[in-house]
Amino acid sequence: MSKKTILVIHTLAVRRNWMIDATVQQQVDEVTRWHTKERGWKAIAYAQIIAQNGTKAGGRDLDGDGDFYEEIGAHAKGFNVEGIGIALTGGLGGKATDKFRDHYTQAQRFALWDTIYEIRKRFGDLEIIGHNEVSAKACPCFNVQEFLAEGDPRTKPITAPAAAAGAGVAVLGAGIAAAPEWWPVAALVAVAVIAIIVIRKVRT
Ligand SMILES: [Zn+2]
Repeated sequence: MSKKTILVIHTLAVRRNWMIDATVQQQVDEVTRWHTKERGWKAIAYAQIIAQNGTKAGGRDLDGDGDFYEEIGAHAKGFNVEGIGIALTGGLGGKATDKFRDHYTQAQRFALWDTIYEIRKRFGDLEIIGHNEVSAKACPCFNVQEFLAEGDPRTKPITAPAAAAGAGVAVLGAGIAAAPEWWPVAALVAVAVIAIIVIRKVRT
């Protein structure tokens, strides 16, 4: 078992609806066929594939023990011994500067976070990067550091209604704060209007 210190995120570079009706295991089998039959590798390059519907399946398992994360992969040159390679279904024709949502689903976002938690639990606080951070490639077609900084949306409180209420309070607060500046003028105008009415009534 090799010591894993880095998680490398990849794109599968396929259409979003590629094998959409197949199971993620069937997707893994198809990628395995590409990598073994067509490229002549020993096995699929990646430790795991995450499908558009958020389901995932293990990839390379040369010793057949069901432990995918320990394997030495074939996904990122110079990082295969210490790196774990995960690939997301989708990403065809993408650019390094694209956003996660341009190619992947919210279900994949959640699934990727779950994988990160699982891998961190086992290997500690390892480094997480996109393939494009160590190679002149678009892969995985989004900025992984940005993705990490955004955090897991499920662990954040729903902020939209609270923010709206906060904005309302802020507007009210601003009104109250502004009041001392305009209320003497308003009071003066009110007194003047009342005085005119009273004077007219007295005259008539
Ligand atoms: Zn890659």
